Amino acid sequence: MRACRGRLAPSPTGALHLGNARSFLLAWLSVRSRGGTMVMRIEDLDHPKVKPWAIDEIFTDLRWLGLDWDEGPDVGGAFGPYVQRERRDQYAAALDVLKDKGLVYSCVCSRQDVASAQAAPHAEDYQRYPGTCRGRFGSFADASAELPPERMPAWRFCAPDEKVGFHDGFAGRYEANVAHRDGDFVLARDTKGAGYMLAVVVDDAAMGITEVLRGDDLLPATHRQLVLYRALGLRPPQFIHVPLVVGPDGKRLAKRHGDTRLRAYREQGIAPERIVGLLAWSCGLVPFGVACRPDELISEFLLSKLPHEPLVLTEALSGALQTFA
Ligand code: GLU
Repeated sequence: MRACRGRLAPSPTGALHLGNARSFLLAWLSVRSRGGTMVMRIEDLDHPKVKPWAIDEIFTDLRWLGLDWDEGPDVGGAFGPYVQRERRDQYAAALDVLKDKGLVYSCVCSRQDVASAQAAPHAEDYQRYPGTCRGRFGSFADASAELPPERMPAWRFCAPDEKVGFHDGFAGRYEANVAHRDGDFVLARDTKGAGYMLAVVVDDAAMGITEVLRGDDLLPATHRQLVLYRALGLRPPQFIHVPLVVGPDGKRLAKRHGDTRLRAYREQGIAPERIVGLLAWSCGLVPFGVACRPDELISEFLLSKLPHEPLVLTEALSGALQTFA
């Protein structure tokens, strides 16, 4: 059996909110309860949205909550660098492997092109890429010539037309045919192959990650990641997808649901133990109204106690943060 290695992989695109905190707490508990190693990796490839202040704030927020990590940009480790922007040569190498296998092609379609090429009226099919550029260009350079200089072609992966399945550690069995559901998907809009879908696979494999616990909004992305693992000859981790925190309207947490940034709670003087206590209660780990630290939850942690429904952050629950003992 491989030694347990998990990771926290925040994107520094904004402040962490209660929903991020819940997924991170669960990821941390899952690893710590088995004596595993926790890795911190910064996923900063989403260039226009990355905020320079966000990395420090994420570290401050998570440490304030009582979460820690054994490897990461600020503590070092044998699998660094732990910041994606510094790992771009590895993505380029992986992209080369896929190119050599004839599994990627360059694509000049805009988002709008993709949308308007859709014939299917079903909403869930809407963004499926119809394969317009497959077989159209011999090389990346040819594709670039078709575009205005400020636009880069995208690299698309030739999705295999077959069912891909996995057993999620919380959500159960999930199967999808990537070619039917997503079509050939984008790996990167970058000559170095640096985009989320490829980078997350390359990094989790290179860092020896054995378990990926994250929000279930990434469940559909997992099939795309699995076909990449296979194409690159890499071993996938155990995936565990947990429900998100949503507002009273059932939508994922957003500004209109009030200020649920950890920083805002900190500035209001709310103790981190109250936040951890509320999240732990929502995960079935402590009775309602108990304030606690993450390390006090390790011995009681069991993923099977976690409800399968999203946590609805009602006004009453937000208010309770002020009153926990
Ligand atoms: N960096 C991604 C995010 O913050 C998470 C990626 C992952 O867990 O695979 O949404």
